[in-house]
Amino acid sequence: MNELKKVITLKDLWDARATLPTPIGLVPTMGFLHEGHLSLVKRARSELASVVVSIFVNPTQFAPTDDLNAYPRDLERDIALLEKAGANLLWMPTPEIMYPPDYQTWVNVDKITKPLEGKKRPGHFRGVTTIVAKLFNAIQPQVAYFGQKDAQQVAVIKQMVRDLNMPIEIIASPIIRERDGLAMSSRNTYLNPAERQAALVLSKSLEAAKSAYQNGERNAQILRVKMEEVINAEPLARLEYISCADYDQLNEIEKIEKKTLLSMAVYIGKTRLIDNEVLG
Ligand code: AMP
Repeated sequence: MNELKKVITLKDLWDARATLPTPIGLVPTMGFLHEGHLSLVKRARSELASVVVSIFVNPTQFAPTDDLNAYPRDLERDIALLEKAGANLLWMPTPEIMYPPDYQTWVNVDKITKPLEGKKRPGHFRGVTTIVAKLFNAIQPQVAYFGQKDAQQVAVIKQMVRDLNMPIEIIASPIIRERDGLAMSSRNTYLNPAERQAALVLSKSLEAAKSAYQNGERNAQILRVKMEEVINAEPLARLEYISCADYDQLNEIEKIEKKTLLSMAVYIGKTRLIDNEVLG
């Protein structure tokens, strides 16, 4: 089995980082790993000389009302999974390392953080871009891997890397789903059995819209309505937003003419789930 070095302090990270063969790939995570995370690790493993994984439940991307303290954690299990997947170095910084007292520096990406998740979760992307910039600075990977599951996050990170001239290639990797279509997420553990069943409406509604698209439908509003109908038919589901937007800048569109992102956030009981599908 692969030897996984585990570090917490910045000094230990830098020492370990210096011994790794390049190119180095980074997979940032918040832990409680599943096959979605591991697909990123395995892909990095197959493409690059070294793989660094970070586990940090980043407080600044959660709203005060969010589930920060309840966020699921199981470090021992995560370590075993990362050893098996072939990661070389795991960094698990503490909140005090990432945000020491009197912390003052933030990274803010402008336009592309405004719609969709950004609209519903004010401050979320400021937390994401700040922590990812800090991870990039500390680890200095040549490549970083993100899941298409968080489609807007990928677009925002790509924008940040372009805007700040960071010498890092950003790779977006496909959504890994359960057999029945539910996109894997650490938050799925919050669902009780009835909610777990109800949560299928996200992927089902995307399938309905995709199949209409494949049959020639190009009117974005018709696709939004199709998705909404599927979600609204499920009593345990409450739609937060539904979107049919251009893939690059995430602006809502009327007609589908190029690469398009269908996306949504839906509450299943108290659990907020997101999912998406790319067309074209
Ligand atoms: P998280 O731990 O939720 O912050 O996720 C860490 C990384 O794993 C992010 O880049 C996510 O987009 C990615 N990820 C989470 N779930 C999935 C999934 N089901 N398929 C692919 N990537 C995922």
